[in-house]
Amino acid sequence: MLKRYLDDAACTLWKDLFSNTCRVVVTGHLGPDGDAMGSSLALAFWLKSCGCQVSVVMPNLYPDFLSWLPGADEVINAQMDSSRAATLISQADVVLCADYGCYGRNESLDAMIANSQAEIVVIDHHLNPDIQARLLISDPSACATAEIVYALLEQLSDSSHPISYDMSVCIYCGMMTDTGGFTYNSSRPEIFYIISRLLEKGIDKDRIYRNVYYNNTVERMRLMGYILNNNMVYLPEYHTAYYTLNSQEMKKYLFKKGDAEGWVNLPLEIKDTRLSISLREDTDTHSIRLSLRSVDDFPCNRMAAEFFNGGGHLNAAGGTLYCSMEEAVIKVREAIAAYESLLTSSLVTGDGKENTR
Ligand code: 5GP
Ligand code: MN
Repeated sequence: MLKRYLDDAACTLWKDLFSNTCRVVVTGHLGPDGDAMGSSLALAFWLKSCGCQVSVVMPNLYPDFLSWLPGADEVINAQMDSSRAATLISQADVVLCADYGCYGRNESLDAMIANSQAEIVVIDHHLNPDIQARLLISDPSACATAEIVYALLEQLSDSSHPISYDMSVCIYCGMMTDTGGFTYNSSRPEIFYIISRLLEKGIDKDRIYRNVYYNNTVERMRLMGYILNNNMVYLPEYHTAYYTLNSQEMKKYLFKKGDAEGWVNLPLEIKDTRLSISLREDTDTHSIRLSLRSVDDFPCNRMAAEFFNGGGHLNAAGGTLYCSMEEAVIKVREAIAAYESLLTSSLVTGDGKENTR
């Protein structure tokens, strides 16, 4: 049912690389999300169970709503604890890059990894990985890196060395968060095969959902309402919505890192919306971070690369503009107008039949 990501040669290489007592650093991408964290932690649990000495190092802080994940309390934040991260990476036999395949979004960790003598293993589902890895496991058709991790562990596990409950929780969290709770990019039967196997491991998927998504503060809930009411611009002629979030608003509503996670999906709940864009001021870097989400075949990654110095997936992409919010909004309006034909071409209705409205 599932892909075998390791052929015989790769399987031998995996076993050589991750031999007993080898020192492994598992890393995720900047702004660790549920998939970066879930995949990294699941792999860390697995490698520990194989006898490896494993540390998980993230380039910066993970959001609060992931702190319940098994093993999250031992994750090292390279921004806060850079000397410890540098030491671990310089002494590592293997650095495993989970949920990213390119340098460039990983700040100081990039240099630490590039300068290290460690073998590099990449496990990722983003397009076009370019890190020079000894072993590259890349599958852009996977809904999450955690899906690849599950298939990999199923291939490597046996009855004396099973996939554990903690690994299962982490894998489910990765798959759930990268698909918006299985609402997009999640219609392949393999995904539900994996979920059924994880349920057999005893995971409580409803609790995992609540841990991640029912984790609001009152202020976050009010800010969400404020944005939808005051800042969201809906352009019916383009089936598109965008909204802004500036630093004064964040301050007023006690905004914390990660608080805006997932909100860009909300405008897609408006009937027939194809594209949603959020613009968020980042005072640290004097920039505007953009997130794009779409449905069907609208290419967020193309728009992000063309207009916002970014990239990503077909239905989820991001980018950064180094300008004022006002200028960023003008750029967003330009991008939307440039993609008019894709945004207004005939719609596909829920039953898959074409709607030529
Ligand atoms: P988010 O909107 O959650 O920040 O990002 C959505 C997706 O787009 C993620 O899978 C992420 O990897 C990708 N992405 C976000 N920002 C960038 C960027 O600046 N460059 C590239 N290449 N991908 C990005
Ligand atoms: Mn991912």
